Amino acid sequence: MTATIISGKDVAQEIRKELKQEVDEMKEKHGVVPGLVTILVGQNPASISYVTAKQRTSHELNFYSSQDDQPVDIPEEDLLKLIDKYNNDPKIHGILVQLPLPKHIDEKKILNAIDPDKDVDGFHPVNVGRLMIGGDEAKFLPCTPAGIQELIIRSGVETSGAEVVVVGRSNIVGKPIANIMLQKAKGANSTVTLVHTRTKNMESHCKRADILIVAAGVPDLVKPEWIKPGACVIDVGVNRVGEKISEKTGRKIAILKGDVDFDAAKEIAGSITPVPGGVGPMTITMLMANTVKAAKFANNIN
Ligand code: NAP
Repeated sequence: MTATIISGKDVAQEIRKELKQEVDEMKEKHGVVPGLVTILVGQNPASISYVTAKQRTSHELNFYSSQDDQPVDIPEEDLLKLIDKYNNDPKIHGILVQLPLPKHIDEKKILNAIDPDKDVDGFHPVNVGRLMIGGDEAKFLPCTPAGIQELIIRSGVETSGAEVVVVGRSNIVGKPIANIMLQKAKGANSTVTLVHTRTKNMESHCKRADILIVAAGVPDLVKPEWIKPGACVIDVGVNRVGEKISEKTGRKIAILKGDVDFDAAKEIAGSITPVPGGVGPMTITMLMANTVKAAKFANNIN
């Protein structure tokens, strides 16, 4: 069997098209334009490229978007004041503080200062709690896990009653996706097992999975013989395993590998995400979806 390749690029494109239409309709019918501010402290090259990509996408979707660059030595107090300013700015519906922050700033304090109703990253404790409760309470799902669920739903994989095994228990991927999949809701209703470094006999758990979600950050951790024939495999891992020269640009680029041995796994799985081009493109897209949601909540639009 050769697995269907789940293209995050294609699904992300499809969702962006839907969002653009939604944004245009909101503007026409309600005069509301979703607003996103990205706050960048310092000039970390990786952070600049993430923020640039987020800004580019929000422009493409006709958002009101603003990029706020702050010096690397900004005092914590000033950054808190800045967040307060955006919390009270009606044009801004989503606030994103690009991580990591410099060492003199308490990241937790900053993230907790964002109004939970503008927390489009979904990391504020209030939103983590809302996700746990589920149903109407859940407002913003964190972007990568929300993207994983969309990939599963849109590739037509049955989740109700499915055995879902999640490898990894981080606050940004493992724990939230486990929580999302166990909710009494469409695209969920699964029986979820979460495994980690202290799990005994990880292989036996993975072998039961109808849907296997791997977010460990260990290249080729999951072996092909751990995969149940026909299973849906979502590989979240992004591991830099070397460098190569890009044929397009002639520049050095990283060679990326997932947490699953893709070439062997695709002969056993029913469907599988590649790395790159799987989960990766979904994260920014779901940030945009959360910003549209935030604008709707703020303006009582259904
Ligand atoms: P993390 O915070 O380092 O957490 C990794 C988790 O995997 C931990 O819970 C750890 O267990 C578990 N783990 C590590 N090695 C393991 C092993 N050998 N066996 C079983 N469990 C193991 O990582 P993360 O932030 O969740 O990210 C995971 C991967 O996803 C990374 O490669 C990251 O780059 C990628 N990622 C991609 C996207 C995207 O595509 N947009 C977004 C986020 C993350 P313990 O808790 O026991 O230590």
